[in-house]
Amino acid sequence: MVLTGAGVSTESGIPDFRSETGIWADVDPFEVASIQAFRRDPERVWGFYRTRIEMLLEAKPNPAHYALAELERRDFVQALVTQNIDTLHTRAGSREVIEVHGSIRSAVCLRCLWAEGTEGVLVQLEERPAPLCAQCGEILKPGVTLFGELLPGAAMERATHFARGAELMLVVGSSLEVWPVAGLPLEASAVAIVNRGPTALDDRALLKIDGAAGETLEALVSAL
Ligand SMILES: [Zn+2]
Repeated sequence: MVLTGAGVSTESGIPDFRSETGIWADVDPFEVASIQAFRRDPERVWGFYRTRIEMLLEAKPNPAHYALAELERRDFVQALVTQNIDTLHTRAGSREVIEVHGSIRSAVCLRCLWAEGTEGVLVQLEERPAPLCAQCGEILKPGVTLFGELLPGAAMERATHFARGAELMLVVGSSLEVWPVAGLPLEASAVAIVNRGPTALDDRALLKIDGAAGETLEALVSAL
């Protein structure tokens, strides 16, 4: 099983969150990306997410995404859990992808649970500051898990199920600081980590490689 975080997408030109050049260096997540902010001022939250969605749709999968898809094709990987919302794993060809923080694929209505695809959302955002539910007229919420929201229950259940059965959890590009996802590797029999910089589970890992995701995973695919 594979678990990926922001570090797997930085080589696609997507900034991470917590580093000095990360997204949260410029904006306060609780002002633009929390459920409280959405309830208070959904238009401001959509102002932030519109730019973000457009940027993420422009990004392309990098060698790390392709290497992980290849490992699944060769049956080394059974499932891939990601904290990323950018859909790059799916676009690179990974099939069993569990997006535990949601994704930019759609927006959802909190009142009637209608889901609207991103294309339709972006069309609406050309005309109004926040997209509306086609069924009940309520303002839609980005299909991304906001701060203060519970993670999607079904996704976390599947992720935990795969983690418990995993002989090895390969963590790529996550410092394993965001719970409950950071607890998933502890469910697996063993953990290997590829990440630039320390992670919360370095001392529990069978192997830790402090390196770039793309280069390291390409080497892994070649070696297998
Ligand atoms: Zn609705």
